[in-house]
Amino acid sequence: RVVYCKGAFVPEGDAHLSIFDRGFLFGDAVYEVTAVLGGQMIDNDAHLDRFERSLAALAIPLPVPRAEIERIQAELIVQNNLAEGTVYMQVSRGEADRDFLYPEGLSANLVAFTQARKLADTPSQKNGIAVDLAADLRWQRRDIKTAMLLGQVLLKHQARANGFGDVWMVEDGLVTEGSSSTAFIVTADGRVVTRPNSHVALPGCTRKAVLRLCDSHGLRLEERPFSPAEAQGAAEAFLTSASSFVTPVIRIGDVTIADGKPGPMTRQLQAYYLEAARGPRPA
Ligand code: PMP
Repeated sequence: RVVYCKGAFVPEGDAHLSIFDRGFLFGDAVYEVTAVLGGQMIDNDAHLDRFERSLAALAIPLPVPRAEIERIQAELIVQNNLAEGTVYMQVSRGEADRDFLYPEGLSANLVAFTQARKLADTPSQKNGIAVDLAADLRWQRRDIKTAMLLGQVLLKHQARANGFGDVWMVEDGLVTEGSSSTAFIVTADGRVVTRPNSHVALPGCTRKAVLRLCDSHGLRLEERPFSPAEAQGAAEAFLTSASSFVTPVIRIGDVTIADGKPGPMTRQLQAYYLEAARGPRPA
């Protein structure tokens, strides 16, 4: 695999980053993951917008212009012959002797790589998954997409050990989000419900796309938080992310959702999303 590291495209074994990189020492880094389908990036403008917003929130300068990042992503897709998978990019604050205080004028480190994997029509998307429930133990600025992911790593690992596909995190009696996804439910009268964007969860790019699809197809939408109990009693549940698209949730904790099969609204949104992802894109 060819990867991008600090200005050069190199074989992955030749990519090196200092042990003093602040991403490594402090999680002082921001990342994005863009899906690739048919060799084309999906929702990449939204991902780049969020990348810039995350970096600005941490006062890390964008090391190269946005157009150059897009060129790097496209080049990696070509060089690795990637038809379906993801492009990961990360910017860390840079390298300095270890100190919580960072010096002015660091040069930020950009790395990027691709991962080939099946994204469309996966077994999870066809059959749905079970999600565990766990207390959200992360920091309070989850709207910033930092590389500081140990909360999610631990909770997802525990969920897997408990036999679940993923975990929905809970704070103040309300679902915040999935370990790496946005949580949705559908009410008995057919309204699609998801939390409004705030500091408690990442503003999902796939969430944004799904909300747009609800709007353009005349589906009723409600942006409000919901409790685990409401989700367990909902007509349907699903989650969204760049790498899992729209994935049905058929059990939450020990409660089966409706008849335990992916619901019709979820199926409809899956179809709309795939259609948009596969459809013609602006040049
Ligand atoms: N929440 C968290 C915590 C995530 O890591 C992700 C995945 N990036 C999402 C939500 C979904 O965001 P997106 O649709 O942009 O992938």
